[in-house]
Amino acid sequence: MGTRAVYVTKPREQIAGLLRAEPRFFSAAEIHRRLDEHEHKVSLSTVYRTLEHLRERGEVTERADDAGEATYKMCAPTHHHHHAICRACGRVEDVDCSTMEQLAESLRSVHGFELDEHKMEFTGRCRACR
Ligand SMILES: [Zn+2]
Ligand SMILES: [Zn+2]
Ligand SMILES: [Zn+2]
Repeated sequence: MGTRAVYVTKPREQIAGLLRAEPRFFSAAEIHRRLDEHEHKVSLSTVYRTLEHLRERGEVTERADDAGEATYKMCAPTHHHHHAICRACGRVEDVDCSTMEQLAESLRSVHGFELDEHKMEFTGRCRACR
């Protein structure tokens, strides 16, 4: 038998790789199950710890799903943007925020309201599911 290099992927790389591969939100339990299917032996607590670490570094976005469970996604744009989420398959499009400036302007002129922060999310069907 020849020698074979044993390549051990760190949990952080495994989890980041999984999140990078699919543009959607995953719960920690889903990530744990996926890694398990690929025979990566990572405990659920390690998944949670790793996600927290990635979130603190701004590499992963956290969102509560309809049941209130925390889910995680890796976003391509690191600047402020919005999410259009497909109800059918869960695919997420990262959406630019530029049109928001018009709404901010009308809040100011019509309501005298100065906008300093906003959150917005879109749900519907993606190109593939329409
Ligand atoms: Zn995003
Ligand atoms: Zn879809
Ligand atoms: Zn915005």
